[in-house]
Amino acid sequence: MKEIFVYQEQSEHFGKTVLPLLEWFAKNARVLPWRDIPTPYRVWISEIMLQQTRVEAVKPYFARFMKELPDVAALAQVPDEKLMKLWEGLGYYSRARNLKRAAQVIMEQHNGEVPSSYEKLLELPGIGSYTAGAVASIAFGESVPAVDGNVLRVFTRITACGDTVSDMAVKRRVEQAVHAVIPRGKAGVFNQALMELGATVCLPGGEPHCSACPVQTLCKAHALGIERSFPVKAKKAPRRAEERTVLLLVSAGEAALIKRPANGLLAGLWEFPNIEGFLTEDGVQEVVSAWGANVQNIRPLPPAKHIFSHVEWHMQGWWVDVDSLPKQFMPAGRIDLQEQYALPSAFRVYLKSFVQ
Ligand code: SF4
Repeated sequence: MKEIFVYQEQSEHFGKTVLPLLEWFAKNARVLPWRDIPTPYRVWISEIMLQQTRVEAVKPYFARFMKELPDVAALAQVPDEKLMKLWEGLGYYSRARNLKRAAQVIMEQHNGEVPSSYEKLLELPGIGSYTAGAVASIAFGESVPAVDGNVLRVFTRITACGDTVSDMAVKRRVEQAVHAVIPRGKAGVFNQALMELGATVCLPGGEPHCSACPVQTLCKAHALGIERSFPVKAKKAPRRAEERTVLLLVSAGEAALIKRPANGLLAGLWEFPNIEGFLTEDGVQEVVSAWGANVQNIRPLPPAKHIFSHVEWHMQGWWVDVDSLPKQFMPAGRIDLQEQYALPSAFRVYLKSFVQ
């Protein structure tokens, strides 16, 4: 009971920011490609792309995606290889797969129209409360919140809420508190104003730009000078470091690729053959011979490092010329690798070594 009371109090305080935020957003909203024509499809695709990726990085991906897959029907039918190529470099490839699965559900169960309600959107693969809230409010005007990391940060700073935001129960209470103050008929604009403040003024890491903030006088964290104490997050387990040896196995101008397992990290994507641990030159020779190929020439490639959310790969690479590529691998030429197959960014250094 006490918790509900506290959140009511916070919600009431937060409600005072609605008008200044809307006025600020009307003057300061960035011009973004998905805002020009906010169809449900465009809002949905942009919101998925923007999760954990910067706006500037998303723009060219969004433009290419819309050109190649302009509607739900095109997305539902796109070959996986092409979809992965359009997503290459954005990371979180399961999101792209979920987009296609959701598009297929929309074709089969909703006559090809993106569902217009928050509840129906939530039923689609890959759509959680944030994305459902964003699409329902921005594209359909439904009065629902869209609480992502930006909004959690803004809310907890304005209200000096010290609860742990990675706790789902806390997130749900923040959603309720935001929901309670959504201005009538302006859910989409209000949600975007909150996201925009979090993305351009109330920044994570470093100092927020409080002097440019339209709700500075209402912000409790600012009044106390403890802006950076919010949001409170649970301590993350340290990332596991893995050592890998990556092989550019090359024959007649083609490099060997292999598909990753259907589940787990980078599921189902193509990659250069790689082995756990750092192998010496002799170790590489042994492995390649065991695969049934004769090594003709071998040279080291630069080391590389790639950070995923829970694990980081420390990689050492070797260029290995062989007489012919072992049968278990798929040969890919330079043009194939540039235009057809999507390789995870983790292999960018080695891909560059091969295609240049
Ligand atoms: Fe964020 Fe500062 Fe604005 Fe508070 S005053 S909401 S900390 S930018």
